[in-house]
Order: sequence, then C-alpha cells, then structure tokens
Amino acid sequence: MKILNLNEGSFPIEMDLNLNSIDVPDVGILKDTLNVELKISKLSLNLLKCDGYITATFIDTCQYCLKKTEVLIDGSIDVAIKDTKELHADSSEQDQTHYQDLEYFNIDNLIEEELALIYPDIVRCDRKCLAKEDTLIEEKNLPFKKIRDLID
Ligand SMILES: [Zn+2]
Repeated sequence: MKILNLNEGSFPIEMDLNLNSIDVPDVGILKDTLNVELKISKLSLNLLKCDGYITATFIDTCQYCLKKTEVLIDGSIDVAIKDTKELHADSSEQDQTHYQDLEYFNIDNLIEEELALIYPDIVRCDRKCLAKEDTLIEEKNLPFKKIRDLID
C-alpha cells in the first residue's frame, strides 16, 4: 500500500508500479503482476489529474461456456482527483472524478477503482463464444430437418 500526501510536494508525480495483488470484486485471478504507469499533475489548488496505463492478465471464467479464459487488460487512466471535502460542494458535471483524502492518498484505491472500470463486464473465451454455439446447434439440426422433410 502506497500512501502519498498530495497536498504538498512537487508535481507531476510519476510512478511505475507492479502490484502482486489487487482487491477488486468480480475480476478474475491476477496472473503475474498488474503494471501501472501513472502521472499525477496538479491543475489548480483543489484539482489534480491522473493519466496513465494499466496492463495485466487475469484468469477468469467464460460466462457462456465456463472455460478458463485469459483476460488481457490494457487500458488508459484519465481521471480527475479531488479531496473528499469537495464531494458535496462539487456541482460540476465532470465525467470521471476520483475522490479521496489528498493528505493520505492511497494510490491502490485509485488503481482499483480504475481497474474496475476498465475490466470487461462480460468475459468470453472467444468473441463469438455464444454465437458459435448457436451456429453449431443450427448445423446439427439441419440434416434432421432434411430427413424429416423427406419423410413427409
Ligand atoms: Zn466460452
């Protein structure tokens, strides 16, 4: 766990992290490490920004055929960071803002939140997993249909 004080120090802060474990519900098992490259910049007194990349491989289960499936994560981070104090005062329609105590900023929390957003909602062993099953059933039924047609 890495805690930073984002209220002081010099910016931008650049980091290259390799995490061995990640605490995110509904994701697969992390294979090797989760690699994060990020840069935190200070835009104004109460507004920071984080840019970066997350790359990792997870072992998950295909939701259609239950086969063990590798999920490759390769996503970018582009999020505003504000102190939790701003949460109620904030009326801006910012697309994505991560709120945390800036004085004791836990970088893992930010990474976990971003990973949860990047992680696919539907895990498939193959992009056509469900479609493939459908065609298979159709093809299998086809000869029977023909025979039935002949009998009739
Ligand atoms: Zn599948």
